[in-house]
Amino acid sequence: MPELPDVEIFRRYAEEHALNQEIKKVSIEDDKIAATSPQTISESLRDRQLKKAERIGKYLFLPTERQSVLVMHFGMTGWLEYQKHEKSQYTKASLNFSNGYHLCFVNPRKLGRLHITDNIQEFCRYMEIGPDALAIGEGDFIQKMKKKRGMLKSALMDQSFLSGLGNIYSDEILFQAGLHPKTRISRLNEAHIGHLFSRMKEVLSLAIEHRANPDNMPDHFIIPHRKEGSICPSCGGEVQKDKLSGRGYYFCPRCQAGEEE
Ligand SMILES: [Zn+2]
Repeated sequence: MPELPDVEIFRRYAEEHALNQEIKKVSIEDDKIAATSPQTISESLRDRQLKKAERIGKYLFLPTERQSVLVMHFGMTGWLEYQKHEKSQYTKASLNFSNGYHLCFVNPRKLGRLHITDNIQEFCRYMEIGPDALAIGEGDFIQKMKKKRGMLKSALMDQSFLSGLGNIYSDEILFQAGLHPKTRISRLNEAHIGHLFSRMKEVLSLAIEHRANPDNMPDHFIIPHRKEGSICPSCGGEVQKDKLSGRGYYFCPRCQAGEEE
């Protein structure tokens, strides 16, 4: 599932290719992805230009010169393609520009969504999108964590608490911080939370630098070793898999000994 670093790469791609050109036509190939009616999406964008590309958590916001903002969420798997001719078979919507190019919203597993909003802050409030994991400051992060209960990994993945992290990057951040995913937040002191904050920023920045490509992550990341029995890049021990809320996660029991449950 596209997480914060992936969506940041899409944001940069949209910024590089799709801004400041007139949209001549909007094609919605599959109504299921239209969280706002296809007609409204079309009317809000036709004869307008996208002026900016912004990101909060896993959401991409593309404001026009008027009030309307196109909002994209990529679901389980998705990406953007800017091209003149061939469209991917999984293109679910496309904006056709006056230069003949298309910005395609490609979404093979259909769980992506397009919305139109007039106000990004209100949209985030309504959708319960918490502060962005890359934008949040250390003081705010510490304050929020001190009030949060439950297990660490669940908190990091709770989009209303902190937005942008999913299964893969929460595993990586916890690995880099040397914390067990099932650590109770109440057991962490301020120094632990500060350390976790630094590792979170570092993991996200490095992942973006490596274009969020899982095959091209730094050598000290656990992402390339997401397989049971893989070798931990830090201690040489065995990577293990466990489950939390029905989802498999990976960790090193030696490096992330921590305080389990
Ligand atoms: Zn290890």
